[in-house]
Amino acid sequence: MRKRFTVQEYKEGVLSGDRSRLSQAITLAESALESDLKLASDLVQEVLPYTGNSIRIGITGVPGVGKSTFIEAFGQLLVDSGKSVAVLAVDPSSQKSKGSILGDKTQMEKLAGDKRAFIRPSPTGSTLGGVSSKTREAMLLCEAAGFDVILIETVGVGQSETAVKSMVDFFLLLMLAGAGDELQGIKKGIMEMADGVVIHKADGDNIANAKRAKSSYENALHLFPLGENNWSTPVITASSMTKEGLNDSWEMIKKYKDKMQESGFWESNRASQRLSWLDENLQFLLGKFFLEDQQVQKILTKNRKRVENGELSPLALARDLIHTFLRSK
Ligand code: GDP
Repeated sequence: MRKRFTVQEYKEGVLSGDRSRLSQAITLAESALESDLKLASDLVQEVLPYTGNSIRIGITGVPGVGKSTFIEAFGQLLVDSGKSVAVLAVDPSSQKSKGSILGDKTQMEKLAGDKRAFIRPSPTGSTLGGVSSKTREAMLLCEAAGFDVILIETVGVGQSETAVKSMVDFFLLLMLAGAGDELQGIKKGIMEMADGVVIHKADGDNIANAKRAKSSYENALHLFPLGENNWSTPVITASSMTKEGLNDSWEMIKKYKDKMQESGFWESNRASQRLSWLDENLQFLLGKFFLEDQQVQKILTKNRKRVENGELSPLALARDLIHTFLRSK
């Protein structure tokens, strides 16, 4: 078993920006062991006053849209302008995410080698709830370590976007220019979640297509009512190959930050995110403790078949299990 440090030791390491201690602290938060999770949760509480100072950016898009390449190029731009950048990933199918975020070493090598960047592949875990809550803890630990910008990549198409949206300040959607069918296949919900859209790979022969796609998306986005933050989602074209549009992407995010800080939405959004993290953690932990209870497991295993056969009502069994659990406490 790997060595554990005290909360104080982790705290000092993280706050001083010690990379290996930060990595170890994140590993702790990703552990399946209850004792590790307790330590990690004490640590996050300890460093909480030192969190909240970064810009949290979620980056999403279908596989192949160029997320890894964009993160590498965009991260490099930030690092070159003197910012420190941490890259995290949310993905329930972790193998895929590892491939995406670290596997293509030629893409991430430069950024990974920069001392102002920290790249962490997605945690291994089976449930999205578990994985996304671990990513939140990882994000807070990175903030405490002093990173200016946190980039959170999500590979999934669907559920994981919602999870990421609920932990970031700015949600960036990468899209590709199609041949006239730009709006097909894109879930309206994901478009609505976006605070900014980047038409990616706008280089070479694709520039004209990308420009056309930009107008289509602008038109489509105009049809959506403005949200609570009163922000109309900009669409820009960019290429991670030529680096064209990367600076515009950053300017767009900075503009968003300025406007939202001015209106108070920045903080009110974070406040409501904290409350939803609480609700999510409660649900996740309740489920975890309940299903790990031996008595519950025993009855459940014994009676699943009867529910399947239609002999026993699912509600009756569920209620019985809850009462058994409560009585055992
Ligand atoms: P991901 O699956 O979304 O992470 O996509 P990747 O970053 O792995 O990129 C998928 C492919 O698109 C790779 O072959 C990249 O070389 C290519 N690609 C990424 N960015 C660009 C770009 O800006 N322009 C062009 N032309 N190709 C790109």
